[in-house]
Amino acid sequence: MLFKQVHAGPMQNFSYIIGDGKSKEAAVVDAGWEIDKLIEIANKEKLKINKIILTHSHYDHVQKVDELASKTDSSVYFHEDDFNEIKKSIKNPNIKLYKLKNNDEIKVGKIKIKIIHTPGHSPGAICLLAENKLITGDTLFVNAIGRTDLAGGNSLTLFESLQKLKKLDDNVEVYPGHDYGEIPFSTIGGEKKTNIYFKCSTKELGMF
Ligand SMILES: [Zn+2]
Repeated sequence: MLFKQVHAGPMQNFSYIIGDGKSKEAAVVDAGWEIDKLIEIANKEKLKINKIILTHSHYDHVQKVDELASKTDSSVYFHEDDFNEIKKSIKNPNIKLYKLKNNDEIKVGKIKIKIIHTPGHSPGAICLLAENKLITGDTLFVNAIGRTDLAGGNSLTLFESLQKLKKLDDNVEVYPGHDYGEIPFSTIGGEKKTNIYFKCSTKELGMF
């Protein structure tokens, strides 16, 4: 698996490229900014982007999806609970849209990407598990978590979603949607040790 974390835009966003070395297929995760940089990286690796997966509906993750999907002839995947919001960013009627549910699997060549529905930051927020790498969007950051005061946000729902992620192995690597930590990525075990929101195990203390 070829995996690239790409810093993009003025809000410390990360996009990701997941490529299969054999089939040369690739998926981009989140398309908020600097899509030419993503295409350039894919070209350098001789990868063909044909899927775009969106972690959630916020503009800093989706505003370039129409342009990137049109340029690369990609299909776009996102959770059904963020469908109405994300659809507003997609004007080209030829782009194929796929609604995701918890536990769905997307294949990029031979690579399997498992979808974990983690609502709370937004109703249709998802995390993506590919091999031992977890892309967490704005659900879990390095030493922080996503805000819940935006439209559709809910602290208790986010708490439940974080409990789901805690069940993953400690060595699973955490790749967030923003570069907000001291390091750009972490592990589930590392977050359990140092992230006070992720450590928190009761709902009462989970009200943040
Ligand atoms: Zn967000």
